[in-house]
Amino acid sequence: MSVRTDEKILINSFQNQETIRNKFVPKKVEIFAWRSIRKRIPTLVELDKKSINLDSVRCPICDDDLKTVDHALVFCKFASEIWLQVFKWWNLNITSIFLVGEIFKDTSPFTSSSNISTIWEAIKWITGYLIWKNRNRKVFGKKSSSTSMIFNNIQGKSYEWIYTKAKKSKLDWHIWVTNPASCSFTSRQIGIG
Ligand SMILES: [Zn+2]
Repeated sequence: MSVRTDEKILINSFQNQETIRNKFVPKKVEIFAWRSIRKRIPTLVELDKKSINLDSVRCPICDDDLKTVDHALVFCKFASEIWLQVFKWWNLNITSIFLVGEIFKDTSPFTSSSNISTIWEAIKWITGYLIWKNRNRKVFGKKSSSTSMIFNNIQGKSYEWIYTKAKKSKLDWHIWVTNPASCSFTSRQIGIG
């Protein structure tokens, strides 16, 4: 199974279903977040349940645990290193590792502005999505990126997607990478209504 096939399965098997929304991310990321909560993204354990013959359901990256959705997106050393970098970037003192359900829950550590909470939610979804994509690259033997390269990709992609969706916002790249929570988003600028 190639990475592209993996993504096609994710999206094609999702026709006509409810989803969750965040207007700062592409549809494929919304679908990913929705399916992750329901443990319905393609992982080795999920494939094994469908009687696809697999030699092992141990994590092919750390050999540490079953390749469950929680492991793939959170507990795997590969994933948790990336999450810790994202928390640090957002200046959040979060050191405990939580479950996928907690990551995608509609809760926010930010109380000052509801718009920042929406942006933070987008960041969590994008992080999970890019962890999953890069993990698949590793699992299927493609050239893989280091966790810091993936972290840089999370900063870049989130900037690109949020900037595109928030046409009138003034997102300064330097502020975005150094202190994203201080970026000012007014309702009018980002069109939240
Ligand atoms: Zn692992």
